[in-house]
Amino acid sequence: FIEMKDIVKTYGSSVVLHGVSLSMEKGQVVSIIGPSGAGKSTFLRCLNHLEIIQKGSICINGQYLARMDAEGNSVYAPEKEMRKICLNMGMVFQSFNLFPHMTVLENIMAAPVYVKGMTREEILPVAQRLLEKVGLWNKRDFYPGNLSGGQKQRVAIARALAMNPEIMLFDEPTSALDPELTGEVLKTIKQLADEDMTMIIVTHEMAFARSVSDKVLFMVDGRIDEEGTSEQIFDHPKNERTKTFLQHIL
Ligand code: ATP
Ligand code: MG
Repeated sequence: FIEMKDIVKTYGSSVVLHGVSLSMEKGQVVSIIGPSGAGKSTFLRCLNHLEIIQKGSICINGQYLARMDAEGNSVYAPEKEMRKICLNMGMVFQSFNLFPHMTVLENIMAAPVYVKGMTREEILPVAQRLLEKVGLWNKRDFYPGNLSGGQKQRVAIARALAMNPEIMLFDEPTSALDPELTGEVLKTIKQLADEDMTMIIVTHEMAFARSVSDKVLFMVDGRIDEEGTSEQIFDHPKNERTKTFLQHIL
């Protein structure tokens, strides 16, 4: 369903991703773990075109965002096609990124109205269902500034879902949260996993990654050092670096 092949990402002369590949099926959950600076965020951002790749290909649901030419250099699809492919992916960031001058409800409705051209009447029941799902319908008229971090992040998840994406990308969705607020956000993501949402999650929450993932990628220095099922990575890591990393973090 998602095929990323031999992705190379450079900034000037520094290579940040050295030919990273990922293949996953619809409905699967893949977690990416690894030390700071490994390239986890960059890899995720390449998938939905927030970063330009230099080499490799990205194919989502049979549609190429970027193909490889004979030398392996990436050739992107026309702008219109890319937009369509990327609209199919919702992203949630560490820092929430809500619109501060809009209420919770307006945050949810903005993109469907302005990007998809839906009417407010069409999107309102969807927004209500999503806010009820994350337990925040009663906060619909609040501004983000008056919400807790955990509530903000649940609004951010509902906002991404309002675009009805087939794929959700999470970049350390709980690392800006106090520990007591982390649980409610992880619960929301777990619920999406139970509903068979296709998800890629960059996280430092190892217990969560273990419980929710079909596949875990351990990334170091712009490479995938080891990958496998939760059991393989967390219970029987083969690689010394994976072992050391897990000993440090667990
Ligand atoms: P963290 O766990 O701290 O979020 P990460 O695994 O997400 O780390 P990235 O943010 O993807 O790591 O960064 C990977 C590497 O790319 C780092 O060495 C970083 O310095 C470099 N990098 C990221 N963005 C840029 C940029 N705009 N220009 C130059 N180098 C960059
Ligand atoms: Mg990161």
